[in-house]
Amino acid sequence: MHFMSEAVEKLVIIGSGPAGLTAAIYGSRADLDPLVYMGSKYGGQLMLTSDVENFPGFPDPVLGPDLISRMRNQAERLGARLVQDDVVSVDFRRYPFEIRTSSGVTKALSVILATGANPRRLNLESELRLMGKGVSNCAVCDGFFFKGKKVAVVGGGDTAMEEATFLTKFATSVQVIHRRDELRASAALRKEAMANPKISFIWDSTVEDVLGDGHVQGVKVRNHKKGTESTILVDGLFVAIGYDPNTEIFKGQIELDPKGYISVKNGTESSVPGVFVAGDVHDFRYRQAVTAAADGCRALLDAEKFVKLKMELKTVS
Ligand code: NAP
Repeated sequence: MHFMSEAVEKLVIIGSGPAGLTAAIYGSRADLDPLVYMGSKYGGQLMLTSDVENFPGFPDPVLGPDLISRMRNQAERLGARLVQDDVVSVDFRRYPFEIRTSSGVTKALSVILATGANPRRLNLESELRLMGKGVSNCAVCDGFFFKGKKVAVVGGGDTAMEEATFLTKFATSVQVIHRRDELRASAALRKEAMANPKISFIWDSTVEDVLGDGHVQGVKVRNHKKGTESTILVDGLFVAIGYDPNTEIFKGQIELDPKGYISVKNGTESSVPGVFVAGDVHDFRYRQAVTAAADGCRALLDAEKFVKLKMELKTVS
């Protein structure tokens, strides 16, 4: 479409996990003709996930990359334009908004930010090698596979406590490995975990290596106060040491909270009218494929209203 004689997109979506692709599906059906900047590493966290058993509509497990591929095909069939470019900067102080990639600048009446968050890693070669083979970042997604098994959780924050407590539904024992002797988690979650007889704590310790060839068999742990090393036999390791939201390119353009997540009000609105937010880039609480997808739908419905109003105003003026 043309807006004040320039080529302007009605909607640009940045990100291609379940949030971005659901926004693209709904956006196509709403005649917003969405342009999606997927990023060179498209698909988000599902691309690193093996069996997904909890996405509604899939009675048999579906591989994370397959699920993304199905969402992608659905969005494209409905007419969304998916581009595998990385957005390098945005200018939300101008209107229409400007989105810059290595191929040039795109102008847009509305934007949905769905760039997700990356789980922090221990940065061990063995952690990466055994990811999806006993190493996980998500107890809700993978806890079920550890029925009757022993697991360890790394971290001392809210996520680690929630994951440890959740895992006791399936695992026979959960050992929390924390690098200090004091938990960062809030009092309620801390107390709940500490009162659970299946959970024990290994303090002042870090994971030095994840052991196992085809599947996790244990972890090598170093107590840095005592200077000792030990091996703990477990079938699974849940790394819960926090997330880094992908908001670097939005700094100075929209309001972020102190941890770098996008601040959201009234559903999916950012601090800039016309810029909407979906998925883990603001939601540090639920972080599920299905909640991200639902959020993509909500952001689209808000963007649709915004664009409609802008276009009506333009017709009147
Ligand atoms: P977090 O609060 O940043 O905690 C990360 C934990 O991992 C800390 O205990 C930290 O140790 C440890 N850690 C960080 N890097 C490490 C490394 N390289 N090796 C070993 N340990 C490492 O992250 P989070 O628990 O994911 O929580 C993120 C935000 O979401 C927080 O604001 C939290 O309150 C919120 N949240 C809320 C809920 C809820 O309300 N139900 C649930 C989940 C999350 P130190 O303590 O030594 O720094």
